[in-house]
Amino acid sequence: MATMIAARLHAYGKPMTLDRIAAPEPRPTDVVVEVKACGVVPNLARVISNFFGTLTPDNKMMPPLPAIFGLDPAGVVAKVGEQVFSVRPGERVYVNPARSCGSCKMCRSGRAEDCPSWTLQGYFGRSQEIMRAYPYGGLAQFITAPAAALVKLPDNVSFEAAARFGYLGTAYAAMKKIGAGPGQSLLINGISGQLGLNAASLALAMGATKILGTGRNQSLLDRVKALAPERIAVFSVTDAPSQPSSVSAGGTRGGADPLVSWAKTATDGHGVDGMIDCLPPGAPASAMMRALFCLRRGGRAVNVGAVMEALPINAFWMMTNRIGLQGSVWFTTAEGEDMAAMAAAGTLDLSILEHRVSPLSEVNEVLAGTDDRNGGFTNFVIDPTRVE
Ligand SMILES: [Zn+2]
Repeated sequence: MATMIAARLHAYGKPMTLDRIAAPEPRPTDVVVEVKACGVVPNLARVISNFFGTLTPDNKMMPPLPAIFGLDPAGVVAKVGEQVFSVRPGERVYVNPARSCGSCKMCRSGRAEDCPSWTLQGYFGRSQEIMRAYPYGGLAQFITAPAAALVKLPDNVSFEAAARFGYLGTAYAAMKKIGAGPGQSLLINGISGQLGLNAASLALAMGATKILGTGRNQSLLDRVKALAPERIAVFSVTDAPSQPSSVSAGGTRGGADPLVSWAKTATDGHGVDGMIDCLPPGAPASAMMRALFCLRRGGRAVNVGAVMEALPINAFWMMTNRIGLQGSVWFTTAEGEDMAAMAAAGTLDLSILEHRVSPLSEVNEVLAGTDDRNGGFTNFVIDPTRVE
């Protein structure tokens, strides 16, 4: 494997091209993974059109060009560096793309997600140095990665299912932050999307007692509910987008909003213990506020969605109702191992995913076509071993 094929972006806003380039060799603490499947998140199309470049004109969030993208690679370890002791060639792995400096106070405290240099290999991030050190995204036949970034895959987790670990892990880390689990009720705002559906699967696996979800597509919501009709309840926001009453007018909790009334009725009048916001890009702040108003007194919310508007939130309402709101991004490799273990045990059901696998040579078509999907059930996967 002196050379390999990689899909590379040479200019933002232009299609990727398949290029033959030198295959990577592992540094002492790295491995080389032969990629068998790489997940394609719909947001990648926005990223390679230089969405973040428009936010940061100096372009420091984006990898240097030509760049190899691809966020969720899974494959087989091909080579290991001389200081790698935990994994051997031939093992099946998911590569967590989260990179950090490894030596700042946050990294040394075991909180690498809070590293100022935190960067997603094959996507974007805060460190140009890290992006240059790990320039191989999953849309290539071979990638390098630190040995510490590997999640070993159980036999019953396919490469295609592992290519979904980015969404799954994002949802898992979020739910851990709000203590989702036995005896708890949870509202998943946007339950039928890619993130929300994975959150529902994990909530079932983690033992959440009551799982409420919102969505805009009734047939998709029906499919989500059918996963566990006795534990999941769904609310269609298509027909009742009534504005919640203003929080500034006395700190009310949603007033007569039918969504809030429904959530309270489902929770003995109290409201949900936790809320995870999984709304897609373009969703209005009001859609997130409605879900926040569904929290019980003392309830906690975590945002992993893509609402970009300012929230009209009343600090006095938050204080008097003891409301918690936290942001969360991605997940640790240890959390990835938790998910692999849950899948191995059968508590996390990945069989609901509909894999739509395409060869690397169709990467531009895949990126242009992600709007055509069965909500979160569709799993877009590129197979870099196929370049026909
Ligand atoms: Zn660091």
